[in-house]
Amino acid sequence: MSDLTLELIKTAQKLKDRGLVSEGVNKGSISLRLAEDRFLISPSKLDYAELTPENVNIMKLDGSFVVQPSPVSRDSYFHLAIYQNYPHVQAIIHTHSKYATALCLANRPLPFITMGMKFHCGGALEIAPYAPPNSEECTRLILAHLKDKKAVLLQNHGLVCVGESMTACYETAEFIESLSESYLHALLLGEVKEIDGGRGGY
Ligand SMILES: [Zn+2]
Repeated sequence: MSDLTLELIKTAQKLKDRGLVSEGVNKGSISLRLAEDRFLISPSKLDYAELTPENVNIMKLDGSFVVQPSPVSRDSYFHLAIYQNYPHVQAIIHTHSKYATALCLANRPLPFITMGMKFHCGGALEIAPYAPPNSEECTRLILAHLKDKKAVLLQNHGLVCVGESMTACYETAEFIESLSESYLHALLLGEVKEIDGGRGGY
C-alpha cells in the first residue's frame, strides 16, 4: 500500500473518531492527489471504518478510473473538477459536520471573526447557493465560490475543504467545525463583530 493511501484511510478514520462525519451514508467524501493526473477517492456509501487499501478508488483527471474496486461516489465528479481547476489542491474533504452544516441550513456564511481564519480558511467563508448535490450546477458553484479560499459552505448541504496537504485539509475541516460551534453559540448571546484582515486567500 502507498503511504498516500494509508494517509487517506487514517484521515477518514480520524474524521469519524472526532465526530466530523456522521455514520453511514451521510458521511461525505475524502480524496487525495496521488500524482498530477490522478487521485484517491473514498467510494460510495462505505463507512469510513471499513476503508482499506483494496477498496479505495483511483480516478484520473480525464474522468476515467485507474482502479475502481468499489461503487463510485457521485461526489467524485466535483472532486475531479476541483483537481482539474485548482492544481495547487492536493486534498479535499467534504463533510456534513453538525455545526458547519447548521450554518449551511441557515444560509449563513462564516464572516472573518478570528485571525485563525486567515491561516486555516484563507479568509471569510462564502456560502454557495443551493443546487442539487452532485449536479453540474453544484460543481460550478463550488468552483466559483472556492476561488482562492480553503473551504466553501454549501447552502442546505455541507462543507467542502481543500488543502495543499491532507494534514492541512483536515485541520481546516476541524477548525471550521469548532469555530462554527463557537459562532453559533456566540450568536445566541448577541452580535458577533467581524475583524479586519479577512480579504484574500492563501
Ligand atoms: Zn454531501
